[in-house]
Amino acid sequence: MEKERELFKKASIVNQARLHSGYHYPRSVATALMSDDNKARFTEEHRPFILFDFEKYYAIDRYGSLTDAAQFERFCEFIGIRCERVDGHPLFNYERLEALYLTTEYTFDPVLIGEYYKEKIAKQSSIEIHPFTQIKKVETVGGSWQVELQNLENEAIETIAAKSVINATYAASNALNRLFGMPDIDLMHEISEMAFVTSPQLKNIGLTVMDGQFGSLMPYGLSGLLSLSSVAYTHHKVSYDNLPTFDCQQRNLLCRPDFTADCNGCPAAPPSNYRKMLGQIRQYFSEKVELDYQHSLFTIKSKLKANFIDDGRPTEISCLHRNPDFYCIFAGKINSIYEIEKML
Ligand SMILES: Cc1cc2nc3c(=O)[nH]c(=O)nc-3n(C[C@H](O)[C@H](O)[C@H](O)COP(=O)(O)OP(=O)(O)OC[C@H]3O[C@@H](n4cnc5c(N)ncnc54)[C@H](O)[C@@H]3O)c2cc1C
Repeated sequence: MEKERELFKKASIVNQARLHSGYHYPRSVATALMSDDNKARFTEEHRPFILFDFEKYYAIDRYGSLTDAAQFERFCEFIGIRCERVDGHPLFNYERLEALYLTTEYTFDPVLIGEYYKEKIAKQSSIEIHPFTQIKKVETVGGSWQVELQNLENEAIETIAAKSVINATYAASNALNRLFGMPDIDLMHEISEMAFVTSPQLKNIGLTVMDGQFGSLMPYGLSGLLSLSSVAYTHHKVSYDNLPTFDCQQRNLLCRPDFTADCNGCPAAPPSNYRKMLGQIRQYFSEKVELDYQHSLFTIKSKLKANFIDDGRPTEISCLHRNPDFYCIFAGKINSIYEIEKML
């Protein structure tokens, strides 16, 4: 059951497409190690959609970083990931960087991966997709869920029975948990913007500046675009409610905390911060580097409240009901998809 007209319109394509290798989480060793656990298998199974051949740099800002260069080096050594100090690189501005490191981190192509899975599902006669569908009502009868669905195109209602339900709706996790009478998971939500740019000098270069209100610019899979994010400017609005509740929903009544719409194309979406994001990331590069803005995509980013401090992004899977079964999968990162196998 998918509420949009198509699969993969939300977080699974509106993200930085970083195949996490641990670097990003110097304050959460658990997330860092888990990224590395799943990376080898994700890489093997999605090889055609991964860009391996580019230089990925991590850098520490001279000002206001929560982790300094010595701590970052010790962290990388502790979890055993490459971290080679690079001095005098002509494309970077060392007046802003305390240290620059060459690392090994790849980027996957979320759009191609989405297409791959859509094709794979289409070949499976046992899988039926109901796009543009809303779950209206839920009951249990005997050992089964009875789920009433409404097609949002023609408003037709149908009821299906299921022995087992998996809620994998990310920002809508609690809305669906509540429909099935299950407890919330403690989440917070942010309306987030990824900007996409091109650069003749940075075709094969990515940079992530640590550790605080900084930014990251790196190839978006095989697309030829660079995705640009900024801790300070990517997140436009924040909601600490378990359901994503934003003031812009008062201007678009089709988007509700319990049934959020797609932010792209929404008349109430916040204006783009791309100029601020570009201004910020430019400071880390030398004047030779040109950045040309193309477009932005918005989505709701959701996080476990427990990870507010350490910035960890675990994938949380719980079985909340037995006979009939109900699982809630909250995916913190794309390459942690295999965590599902621990439960199912
Ligand atoms: C800005 C940003 C940057 C990120 N960067 C990275 C990164 O670099 N690397 C990484 O690995 N991860 C990253 N992530 C995290 C990653 O994108 C998510 O963990 C992942 O996409 C979650 O996948 P999902 O399928 O659970 O959610 P989604 O892709 O959001 O899919 C949920 C689906 O549920 C549907 N849905 C919602 N409500 C209902 C309903 N009531 N009924 C039916 N269907 C419903 C939605 O329409 C959607 O299709 C980032 C996330 C964001 C937002």
